[in-house]
Amino acid sequence: MDKPKLHLVVIPLLAQGHMIPMADLSLLLAARGARISLITTPLNAIRLRGVANVAADSGLPLRLVELPFPCADAGLPVGCENVDLIPREDLFTPFFKSLNLLAEPLKLYLRAEPTGPTCIIADQCMPWAIDVACDLGLPRFVFQAPSCFFLLCTLNLSRHNFYQSATNWREPFTVPELPDGVGRFQVTKLTAQRFFDWPGQDVVQRHVEKAEAAADGIVLNTFEALEPWCVQDYRRAAGKEVWPVGPVSGFHKDLAGKASRGSDRGYIYASGAAKWLEGRMQGSVMFVSFGSISLTRMRQMVEIGEGLAAMGRPFIWAVKQAVKPAEKSEVGERWLSEFEKRTEGRGLVIRGWAPQALILNHPAVAGFVTHCGWNSTVEAVEAGVVMATWPHLADQFLNETLVVEVLGIGVRVGVKSPAYHLWGEEEVVLVGREMVRSAVERVMDGGMEGDERRRRAAELGEKARKAMEGGGSSFDNLNCLIEHATKLAAMKNFSM
Ligand code: UDP
Repeated sequence: MDKPKLHLVVIPLLAQGHMIPMADLSLLLAARGARISLITTPLNAIRLRGVANVAADSGLPLRLVELPFPCADAGLPVGCENVDLIPREDLFTPFFKSLNLLAEPLKLYLRAEPTGPTCIIADQCMPWAIDVACDLGLPRFVFQAPSCFFLLCTLNLSRHNFYQSATNWREPFTVPELPDGVGRFQVTKLTAQRFFDWPGQDVVQRHVEKAEAAADGIVLNTFEALEPWCVQDYRRAAGKEVWPVGPVSGFHKDLAGKASRGSDRGYIYASGAAKWLEGRMQGSVMFVSFGSISLTRMRQMVEIGEGLAAMGRPFIWAVKQAVKPAEKSEVGERWLSEFEKRTEGRGLVIRGWAPQALILNHPAVAGFVTHCGWNSTVEAVEAGVVMATWPHLADQFLNETLVVEVLGIGVRVGVKSPAYHLWGEEEVVLVGREMVRSAVERVMDGGMEGDERRRRAAELGEKARKAMEGGGSSFDNLNCLIEHATKLAAMKNFSM
């Protein structure tokens, strides 16, 4: 009888910036012969259908496992199954609490599996899943969604009591013990925030740290040549195996694959964007997008639009407008339609989900105004695209430092602190139209410095692609991860 395949159970946080890279990771692992159970909930399964289709078309053993999401038990409105579906700020805490309720259905699923799971790979933000692995005696790995630079900085800051002792959120502090080659940087509690550094979440933060300590290894969506000094130091500091296996988006080579990420209707969006980009001059287009969670309010939206209108270059702008539940979206929509008419032929406005991987990899696209979410950053690196950085929250400020100061492939738009209070009465404009225009000009042109940034970006893009090929560092690290999982499972005496 054939030996059953290695069965890996992959558990992403229910947020696009986590589901997308962990779905890519699942495809990569399935392509090496592992059987994958990708754990999700019914509404999120719809978004992951594209990935399941890619797997099915390629004959890869990937299965979506839908656990019922207990919205009502957690006091959440029906359908509140993803971070980008949380309608009010006060529901963030119940949402993250409700994730723990997935533990029992997960255990039931794992116990009922005839061949048994080999190991669990859980998102850092799903520490309860590591508890499940411990309860069942399974090997467990943590997937860290941020950059290694962010992880190392925040680990060092934590070890120097920064989070516990700094009382002033704006007080500058130099990140301690960074390796040579990285430089010296100052942060504040606002710009070095970890995922759960917000009021009332210290219990979750401690749970995350405990789960990390209990993990058998850490998986990262980066590659050794991008942040070599950080990977080495982080490996040492974490005291366990650390495998950078990215950029995981590198799994997708064609339009269908790139379009499958994050939406079941991606193919339709991707075909439209590809058509618009067809025939555009190489390296002429600017792409503007702030990821899956950050929304833009009306006044800020107008400033971005006017900045883009003033710069005179072709652009694609993915707009996710913030509309308060009690507000009407018509004013914003009217303005956007008028803006589209004014910039017709030169600009493409995408409302909602944009086929980002496809856009970034198109030869016509040269620059990216980004919020520095780590997936967006590493996707831009892979595509060899230079960035104008506009961090909004969490790890994004440290990712900006990495892009601008360490790697030299971006320019700052000029934002100094996070934009919270999305639904507050006060609409704050952080970046005026002139700042937008000037950042875009600097990143798309920028004289000799601009040429040097583009040269470095192209070089890193090449290294990113090489890392994923046979014999590349990420390719090899993925093999090591699989070998380690197999060895641990055998030691723990699980059916293989
Ligand atoms: N993304 C996309 N289309 C969009 C918005 C986001 O394809 O309109 C993808 C993007 O390519 C990336 C992920 O969603 O893979 C966003 O992750 P990131 O870490 O950049 O930011 P977050 O959404 O977590 O803030």
